[in-house]
Amino acid sequence: DNVLWCHDLYRFYRSGDEETLALRGVSLSVARGEVVAVVGPSGSGKSTLLACLAGLDEPDGGAVTVAGDRVSHRPEAERARLRSRRLGVVLQSGNLITQLTVRANIQLVQAGAKASRPSPDELLEQVGLRNRASALPRELSGGELARAGLAVAVSNNPDVLLADEPTGELDGQTEQIVLDLIRMRARDGRGVLLVTHSPAVTAIADRVIALSDGRITA
Ligand code: ADP
Ligand code: ADP
Repeated sequence: DNVLWCHDLYRFYRSGDEETLALRGVSLSVARGEVVAVVGPSGSGKSTLLACLAGLDEPDGGAVTVAGDRVSHRPEAERARLRSRRLGVVLQSGNLITQLTVRANIQLVQAGAKASRPSPDELLEQVGLRNRASALPRELSGGELARAGLAVAVSNNPDVLLADEPTGELDGQTEQIVLDLIRMRARDGRGVLLVTHSPAVTAIADRVIALSDGRITA
């Protein structure tokens, strides 16, 4: 019962007459209830893989599905609809709208949701940010911003959570908060795929996938 699946992903980058093969036939799946960590050296293709899985980048070959819906090779408007309905994505560049408060960012993601959703304050409580609901992103510390980004990403209860270094800037205590939230997603039958360098994150993963030079090596 795969909630995230990709098969034989290829991604080429061309600049001038130099060509980089960022992904060379990557196939993987994440089952419901599973946390998968992707590790690998810088330049191994982790960010490219995450972007292709999130429908933010289009692979040159292969296919991606989320909860049975094809993400790859579809018009951007359809990919955007899938992202908002099925995916929560936390990138290092941040996923908050800078002009809106943390609470308003969550309300925006939840707008139009048919099923009931936890309130913004409940979500922020879970990541220890209840007292920062009215803050703007620029008023948050790096660690607060990372947790706010995660709260926004899960606020629509997505089938799949994709995150790039979710604990990158956190101290031990706030890292534990984030790890608990990630495990809770899996316990609720969702899938999680994380790109990380942190041993604390790989320790809570059900599976660790090693990427090297655009290929899965372990
Ligand atoms: P990682 O996230 O593991 O550091 P990336 O996915 O960022 O790896 O990069 C994989 C390879 O693709 C690297 O060789 C990188 O230089 C190259 N690459 C990534 N993005 C681009 C781009 N926009 N243009 C050209 N090359 C790129
Ligand atoms: P090939 O490229 O070798 O023809 P496929 O890409 O068709 O193989 O499928 C590879 C494996 O992934 C098969 O076991 C197939 O059943 C499974 N698969 C194919 N499409 C999906 C999908 N949309 N969701 C989940 N599993 C799939």
